[in-house]
Amino acid sequence: MINYTERIALLMQDIVARTSRLSFIDLKEVIVFARFGRSDAEGAFATCHCLTLPESEPGYFFWKDRETGQLTRRSPWFVTKSPQVRLGSTRVKYLISFVLPRFSDQTLVGSRKADLYGRVQPWIAKLDTIVHELYHIDPAQGGIRAVENADGSRSYRSHGPMVYEDCGGRVQAYLATKPDPALYDFLPHDFAGLNRRFGGVVGTTFSNFPSFPQRYMETVDLPGTDPAVRIEPLKTPTQPVIYTEDHLHVRQFMEASTRRLTRKGQHCAA
Ligand SMILES: [Zn+2]
Repeated sequence: MINYTERIALLMQDIVARTSRLSFIDLKEVIVFARFGRSDAEGAFATCHCLTLPESEPGYFFWKDRETGQLTRRSPWFVTKSPQVRLGSTRVKYLISFVLPRFSDQTLVGSRKADLYGRVQPWIAKLDTIVHELYHIDPAQGGIRAVENADGSRSYRSHGPMVYEDCGGRVQAYLATKPDPALYDFLPHDFAGLNRRFGGVVGTTFSNFPSFPQRYMETVDLPGTDPAVRIEPLKTPTQPVIYTEDHLHVRQFMEASTRRLTRKGQHCAA
């Protein structure tokens, strides 16, 4: 079977090594993992998740009486934090997720990127997505790279046309360095083709799959304002707040489901 996220991570190493503007990226601080998403459903192909965003300012939720407008209940003060993900002694700064099987079925045909590339192989869309996610890693280490709008203003949320052009240029620049085709020869296959060729598609996931390390709320001890207002406790977090290599699993991805693979020796022989 092909380990799809491992292949992407290897390709990323080569892209970063051959692209001077991405050379600041230390991929030891990045985990590539897989999420599940059907090819025939709408949604993202890939996402860059930042683990270095600072703790939020303290805040709380509150409920008001609809008629009197008076505060009736509130939550305790809380801050929002990023979980810690560690591989050995290395603190991981970014997670990049690829949605399978959807990503492996991504194609330039009929997409908004098609115009930028002109006449190239449809699978170049996947290489473009990989470069795009690397592009989100902020050289200033402040989180997710702020995107320049065409008018020079900065936006963290939108993907203006400039981003697509910029990535397109980088994909072409990377291919012009004549990388070893063995590094990307898995990309032209769609999901059915991968299964035919490799007999299955597996990828790294977290042990709390379909969840993964995400921001969480933590109660902080700050004085309340009005003792007459009832305090509703926050739900205790159900997901880990610290992750290590022990939380990394391998799952096989199929068209409509996934299953965990266990290593030989992980279970007692019967
Ligand atoms: Zn993006």
